[in-house]
Amino acid sequence: VSACEESNSQNGNDGKAVPAPKAAEKETDKIKIGFSMDTLLEERWLKDRDLFKEAVESLGAEVEILAANGDDAVQIEQAETLISQGVDLLVVVPHNAEAMAAIVKKAHLAGIKVIAYDRLVKNSEIDLYVSFDNEKVGEMQANAITKLVPKGKYVYIGGAETDNNAHLFKRGVFKVLQPLIDKGDITVVYDQWSKDWTPANALVNMTAALKANQNKIDAVIAANDATAGGVIQALAAQGLAGKIPVAGQDAELAGVQRIVQGTQIMTVYKPIKALTEKAAELAVMMAKGDEVKADRKINNGKIEVQSVLLSPIAVNKRNIDQTIIADGFHSKEEVYKVV
Ligand code: BGC
Repeated sequence: VSACEESNSQNGNDGKAVPAPKAAEKETDKIKIGFSMDTLLEERWLKDRDLFKEAVESLGAEVEILAANGDDAVQIEQAETLISQGVDLLVVVPHNAEAMAAIVKKAHLAGIKVIAYDRLVKNSEIDLYVSFDNEKVGEMQANAITKLVPKGKYVYIGGAETDNNAHLFKRGVFKVLQPLIDKGDITVVYDQWSKDWTPANALVNMTAALKANQNKIDAVIAANDATAGGVIQALAAQGLAGKIPVAGQDAELAGVQRIVQGTQIMTVYKPIKALTEKAAELAVMMAKGDEVKADRKINNGKIEVQSVLLSPIAVNKRNIDQTIIADGFHSKEEVYKVV
């Protein structure tokens, strides 16, 4: 019973309409979450944005979203804006794992807790990390490809070096490849990061890999579907698309369509809705001052970060329907559309 209700009943005012200033105040005093995003230039992040908004609002809270399109200075400025607007909690997808540590500090000075969403903020006292098991993503890619190509020349097209996830994906890949490299079955003939995860940079990398090896490459692992798109474009230019298996990640529509067409062998599906719902639930709890207990701890260079990691799902031609389509991530029509 709020103080307001209590005083009303004590007044015993014969059922007459009573102004309820406290209730009105509460209405405008909703929990407000700030969501600072790296970019909206890739399909998955549009889903993250929309589904996170939906999840936060379904919990009765509000969210203010700003995206920096890959510019560290802009992302820092935007996060500062959210802090100065007085959000109750900040959720961050860092473009740069190190640079956003400054924002964690600023938020804490203002009494605001910070959650790292999908990507970890390194060397900071970040309050919580909510993501997928990203090392597992890399393991799934390498397991799928080595099953198909147990011996030969491999290319690894990495993500953005500034993104902690890119390192985790790569670690997972090499965890599976290393014993095969040690046995002499597999040789990694090219291994490069792709700045800002762009297909254009992956295309340049893959073109260089093909040239350096006179097109004699047996398998390619690309860190995500965007970079896989660049890789497949480079292969197509040499008439090799569909002849050399390529793995990706994200279950982007274009990636899944390429699996159907046979130019990409697999992708890793990360159910974004589950991630947004988990992050929203924990964000609102923490904003209200409730304590959150996570089951995992991950070292970010400074502290052991409380972490919640969801499970990724390996997808190939055989299980598209039971995973991506069954979940409504993409429709059957879109996936099987002849393009
Ligand atoms: C995400 C991937 C995404 C990549 C590029 C990573 O941090 O985990 O899902 O493809 O960033 O945006």
